[in-house]
Amino acid sequence: MIRSDNLVQETRADNLVQETRPNLLGWRESDLEQFLVDCGNPGYRAKQIFTAIFKQRVAGFDAISTLPKSLRQQLSEHFDTATPTLALVEASIDGTRKYRFESDGAAFESVYIPAVARNGKTNTLCVSSQTGCALGCGFCYTASLRHNRNLTAAEIVGQVLAVSDDLATIADSNDGVATAPRVGVRPITNIVYMGMGEPLLNYEEVVRSVEVLMERHGADYSNRRITVSTAGIVPRIYDLARDLQTQLAVSLNATTDEVRDRIMPINKKWPLAKLVGAMRDYPLPNRRRITIEYVMLGGINDSDADARRLIKLLAGLPVKINLLPLNEHERTPFETPSPQRVEEFQRILHKARLSAIVRSPRGQDISAACGQLGAKP
Ligand code: SAH
Repeated sequence: MIRSDNLVQETRADNLVQETRPNLLGWRESDLEQFLVDCGNPGYRAKQIFTAIFKQRVAGFDAISTLPKSLRQQLSEHFDTATPTLALVEASIDGTRKYRFESDGAAFESVYIPAVARNGKTNTLCVSSQTGCALGCGFCYTASLRHNRNLTAAEIVGQVLAVSDDLATIADSNDGVATAPRVGVRPITNIVYMGMGEPLLNYEEVVRSVEVLMERHGADYSNRRITVSTAGIVPRIYDLARDLQTQLAVSLNATTDEVRDRIMPINKKWPLAKLVGAMRDYPLPNRRRITIEYVMLGGINDSDADARRLIKLLAGLPVKINLLPLNEHERTPFETPSPQRVEEFQRILHKARLSAIVRSPRGQDISAACGQLGAKP
């Protein structure tokens, strides 16, 4: 909870250095309301401000005509509402779009993945939570980046708004990307925290960003449409269950501790039994399921025995499995398995009545596929 009395002091000091004004995109409506009330304004102004900034996407506080002039000015002095600077947009032939942002000397990426079929309804935005990653998974490009800082809640929320803004402009202009959907004001239906970084190592900002994105008068996403993905920060999975109950995705990627230790060093801290235990304890209302991501590495974790162990490991858990044949890149020694191997692996899972989908890479021509993010120059 942000104490508004502290904030007044902070923002007064911040006025000397304009660029450190707090960014409102990282504030919950209740925090703003408290702040406004403490400054002698009616609390309902917070709702008007959220509607204007998130739903109507006004250019600035000055444009919020429902507010008194003095409040508009006060808000402009106290708060920033800028989204992170968009440095580059790349469009794939499959309609996927990769966005490169730059903020405070760091670069990070988001990937917009439109529904595949014409009648598909799910347009997903994959957001970053950090600018690199400390986990060192041996198959992931992001792991090879040295620079790693946490993104702020405002920088995470800002990715969603900046991409929405961009999509609204291409909806109007039809920029020739054949599969780009006719997007409306809010074309992003689902948000996945599967971009650069480990969301659960940036827990507080990630949680707050989700809370902001769920604000009813703001972006209004339901927690069913937000997925937080983790490589297995076990205590934080319990925290997430308590704080948010978003959809959970776990990057499992191996069926023995021996192999998982090798490809995902975080496993030495929280081995498979603990990780699967946390998944079993995760509350799953309304027939929801946990997503299991399984990157397939040729000759490492793709044998029939692995498939059988996976079935055992997940027995009784409501899951859907995404099989991700490795997207190769120059910074991994691993290789992608043959399509036949992937198919056979999937067949064994299907025989055990597990839902397993082979994810075909999207946006590979622009290095936007899983494990390829890293703001390459
Ligand atoms: N750190 C979090 C969020 C990143 S999600 C997590 O690990 O869940 C990114 C997903 O892409 C993970 O499931 C990861 O296993 C997968 N991935 C990473 N590198 C990949 C690659 N080269 N090919 C295919 N999938 C990859």
